Amino acid sequence: MQFRFTESALAFEAEVKRFLAVEWSPEVRSRAYAGADAYDVERAFRKKLADRGWLTMSWPKEYGGERRPYQEQYLFQEALNYVGAPGATVAVQQVGPTLMQFGTDEQKARFLPPIARGEVEFALGYTEPDAGTDLASLQLRAVRDGDDYVMNGIKRFTSAAHRAEYVWLAARTDPDAPKHRGISMFLADLRSPGITIKPIWTLGGGRTNEVYWDNVRIPATALVGEENRGWYYAAHALDFERISIFTVAGVRAVFDSLLAWAKELGPGGRRPCSEPSVRAALADFKVQLEVLQTLSYRILGMVERGDHPNYEASVVKIFSTELMQRLQNAGTKMLGAYGQLTPHDPRAPVGGRIAQGYQAAVMPTFGAGSNEVMRNIIATRGFGLPRG
Ligand SMILES: Cc1cc2nc3c(=O)[nH]c(=O)nc-3n(C[C@H](O)[C@H](O)[C@H](O)COP(=O)(O)OP(=O)(O)OC[C@H]3O[C@@H](n4cnc5c(N)ncnc54)[C@H](O)[C@@H]3O)c2cc1C
Repeated sequence: MQFRFTESALAFEAEVKRFLAVEWSPEVRSRAYAGADAYDVERAFRKKLADRGWLTMSWPKEYGGERRPYQEQYLFQEALNYVGAPGATVAVQQVGPTLMQFGTDEQKARFLPPIARGEVEFALGYTEPDAGTDLASLQLRAVRDGDDYVMNGIKRFTSAAHRAEYVWLAARTDPDAPKHRGISMFLADLRSPGITIKPIWTLGGGRTNEVYWDNVRIPATALVGEENRGWYYAAHALDFERISIFTVAGVRAVFDSLLAWAKELGPGGRRPCSEPSVRAALADFKVQLEVLQTLSYRILGMVERGDHPNYEASVVKIFSTELMQRLQNAGTKMLGAYGQLTPHDPRAPVGGRIAQGYQAAVMPTFGAGSNEVMRNIIATRGFGLPRG
């Protein structure tokens, strides 16, 4: 068994790192994390990725992409994750690829070029108050009326709704059909009259939203593919997340920053690494990090061979998100009281990233498929056990 990247993939990685050193400098990063203009900074950075063709590097050439080899996509994603830079969006990963396959010519012409240029953003409109893990229970109703659909209902946790132009919206078009077969997908304009967006503030200070749809008229041309085939399209779109769900670099970056902190002289002239519990914890996390790296290479190898990672991706999803949570918990303990200071405070050790990361580490354990469900996938698809 050999883990080896091609020469061209390594050269590309070096190019990406040079780019990040300039365009995602520590100063830009701190503005993106704690500045008043955080979103503008993030969007400007994505535009720079787009200008180089990197935002849509996985897309086929005919749609303005580069169809880069998987190794390059992987190393690119890892380089961005290591420094906490924003990468591909819902528009790039889900809307674009689905439109390429199922969209009308008009939809392709209207949406794909601006997505590739980083000029249009989509929120993800799946979850509702009574439809999260069991997404097919969604109730937001879309009723055809002349040239429009009229939407009524509530979406919850529509994270980017307050800043995106559109939402990739799942709505119920046939309430009498079996629940998976009565759902349609829409490219809905968030500026449409009748939409009310209310903030939900999360533990780490980030914003997500509840979105109320009150007789909102969306043109029928915004329907994607066939009516009532939306479940199939949404599942197809989620397929494109598979290259991005197994990155290791975010965890490695936290580990490296704790290791660097442990070697520094602290108050009283002591280095934290002289504390046996700190040394032992770091050594233990190093072992777990290497396990994650190996699991992640396994998935990359499968994707390269044209295999479809299935329960194997669930293994990595669980291990990476729970390792991140364990690491952030341990980091918070190691740093002591100062470790609770956020990036807004200049006295915060490790730039306040552990305090912020500790709070943010919860969401990935249930976002993009909760870890309980992932465990069920491993049991059923991995071991062939009957459904519980
Ligand atoms: C900060 C944040 C941002 C989000 N952003 C978006 C977004 O932009 N767009 C969007 O559409 N959604 C978004 N979500 C929603 C997210 O995808 C859901 O929270 C997730 O799907 C879980 O749904 P739920 O919250 O309704 O929990 P539930 O589905 O009610 O689950 C509650 C608990 O029960 C467990 N559980 C449920 N069903 C099973 C089962 N069959 N077997 C075993 N255990 C089960 C779950 O694992 C979980 O622990 C966001 C959520 C958060 C918190």
